Amino acid sequence: SSELPLLAASGLAKSFGGIKAVNEAEIQVKKGSITGLIGPNGAGKTTLFNLLSNFIRPDKGRVIFDGEQIQQLQPHKIAQQGLIRTFQVARTLSRLSVLENVVLAAQKQTGENFWQVQLQPHVVAKEEKELRDRAMFLLDKVGLAAKAQDYAGGLSGGQRKLLEMARALMTNPKLILLDEPAAGVNPRLIDDICDRIITWNREEGMTFLIIEHNMDVIMSLCDRVWVLAEGQNLADGTPAEIQTNPKVLQAYLGQ
Ligand code: ATP
Repeated sequence: SSELPLLAASGLAKSFGGIKAVNEAEIQVKKGSITGLIGPNGAGKTTLFNLLSNFIRPDKGRVIFDGEQIQQLQPHKIAQQGLIRTFQVARTLSRLSVLENVVLAAQKQTGENFWQVQLQPHVVAKEEKELRDRAMFLLDKVGLAAKAQDYAGGLSGGQRKLLEMARALMTNPKLILLDEPAAGVNPRLIDDICDRIITWNREEGMTFLIIEHNMDVIMSLCDRVWVLAEGQNLADGTPAEIQTNPKVLQAYLGQ
């Protein structure tokens, strides 16, 4: 369709010393889609996420999100605009409860540092009950309601990924960047995570961009897949097109 993509990045580049981690890359994510980002180890996928969310400043390039240029904005401002990300290693606050972890994720809506661990007094006074109710609702949605009062540090790898999803959802995002949602997850829980992503996509219209090495996960979730290799775009297309693309197969075999 002619509809503008929710996210469109072009000409993105970032070098570390002499290494061109991302080298003139582009990506587009359609509203309402589940889009995949794949590529061999070291292809630049995580760096691209860092550039999109401005956790790392690009050397050059342009990021348009929901019709606005965002590459000049601070990461918390980008989060406020509705572009939220999770991390390969889940950033849970181990010594807080699962529920508190989700409640605190709402912090970015106040414009304060997303990761600070104290709720602002005015937020506590005005909204604490609403935030807790919303957090409990989301924990129920990701299957962690029974763990709400437990320390987050006691969760398994897969449960942490689900907690990260609940934290992301708590910010009412328009687009969630998921960094390897299936990595380090018990195989039995992978299907559960995929089901929850699909449910949020179908029922709430949530848009996802997902980095994942597990091809079964990519193929079952994604409408469209972008392939990076050595920091550059190698291909993009439907999962079926990508799976049979000779250049893509070569890049993975060459690893
Ligand atoms: P993987 O699938 O293994 O997670 P990836 O596709 O996410 O890899 P990146 O982590 O983005 O790849 O790394 C791309 C390249 O940039 C690699 O050569 C990596 O060593 C290098 N790199 C990434 N971050 C840094 C950094 N902070 N300092 C130096 N080099 C870096």
